[in-house]
Formats: sequence, C-alpha cells, structure tokens
Amino acid sequence: MNMASTAKSSAKSVAAAAASSVASSLGAKAAPSLPIISVPSGPTLFEAAERVPNETLDDIRADLGECTRCRLHKARTKLVFGVGNPKAELVFVGEGPGHDEDIQGEPFVGRAGKLLTQMIEAMSLRREDVYICNVVKCRPPENRLPDKDEIAVCSPFLLRQLAAIQPKVICCLGACSAQTLLATNQGISRFRGEWFDFRGSKLIATYHPAYLLRNPPAKSEVWKDLQKVMAVLGLQPKKR
Ligand code: SF4
Repeated sequence: MNMASTAKSSAKSVAAAAASSVASSLGAKAAPSLPIISVPSGPTLFEAAERVPNETLDDIRADLGECTRCRLHKARTKLVFGVGNPKAELVFVGEGPGHDEDIQGEPFVGRAGKLLTQMIEAMSLRREDVYICNVVKCRPPENRLPDKDEIAVCSPFLLRQLAAIQPKVICCLGACSAQTLLATNQGISRFRGEWFDFRGSKLIATYHPAYLLRNPPAKSEVWKDLQKVMAVLGLQPKKR
C-alpha cells in the first residue's frame, strides 16, 4: 500500500474513531495530512554510533553490562534497557527512567507509563507488540533532564537498538529523544507531528506522557500524532 492511499484510508478511519470511547478519552479529532520532511543534512549521532552488523538486542544488552560509562550509574537501582517486541514495527523512545522505572528495571511503568499503555491500546496494539526504550538507560537524579555528555555516551546504544529492530515507525516521546535522534536544538513544538525519514524508518515526535499528565488538553494533539502513526501502520482505532 502506498503512503497516499494509506493516508486516505486513515482519514476515513479517523472519522470513525471519533465514536470510540478510548479514542475520545485521548481527545480524538480528524487527522491532518501527512507532511514528510527530511532530516537536516550533516552527521548525526546515528552515523557516529558504533554499529555491529546483525547484532541483536541481547548482544547490545550484553555489551552494556553493568554500565559505568557515565555518572548516571552512581545513583541507579536498575539499568533500564528497553522492553517489548524485538521485531516491532513501532518503537517509542522516551527520555530516561523515572523513579518507578529505576526500581523495576522497565521503561514507562509509572503514571506516565500507564498513560502510554492506554495510548498504545487506543491504537489497537498491546504493549508487547511495540518496543519501548529511552535515550539514557539510568535514572537522572531527581528526575532532571539528562546532561549532554550523558546523552552522548548513552545514546549510541539507543541507536544500535533501533538498528537491530529496524522499525517502520519511531515515535519520540518528548523533546529529549526527538532532539537527540534528529540532532537538533529546536523546541519540539516546532516539529511535533511532522514526519522525518530516519535511516530507513519514519520518525515522528509527540509530547511525553508525563507532559500530558500536567497538561491534559494536549492529549488531543498527541492523539492526532498517533493517528498519523496508525495510518502508516495500517491500524484502525480500537473499538469499544
Ligand atoms: Fe551507562 Fe547509559 Fe547508564 Fe550512563 S546512562 S551508566 S552510559 S547505561
């Protein structure tokens, strides 16, 4: 199915979705068109990352080991590598583990994680269908943003994860992951909801679920972004 026909059929399915209670809870509205813009030229972290042909997620996890490559290892309880389908068509990339994730060793398991799970299920998927990971694998103290040097050290492992999975779609949750993968300092509101080509995958950025907990009205914008993802993946909104 080509992209244009996928987008068309999606627009119809989006209209039908307005009746869905799950979708409605996320503020469902008609989906906008699908602009596709290129990543700015120039070297990216992806190109700089060490890439080992045919390596698996298990290989990458083994390479990380009990990582002490940056200062974030000092306060962590558990390294949070990632979870989900190693052959997922859709990968969600967040910023870094929070308190609950640090304790459990799994990404997006706190309040924001529960909202992400609802978002995934509204897309007619299960958590185990997708892959979920973060830019940095250890919790920044006091939930601060990861520092640039920490991102520089840890993000090559994210890039290797993405290379191993080769998803159709990468959905960046929040500015940190989007700015890291797109090698930009622009605010997320400048490019949220736009499509980028990213090394064989399509990449879209949307707001982080933690932001939605603080700003529920933004859910409708996120739902529009997720509908674009669904159009590319040929998904229909979950029915009641
Ligand atoms: Fe290693 Fe990444 Fe943890 Fe830093 S954040 S210690 S680079 S796994």
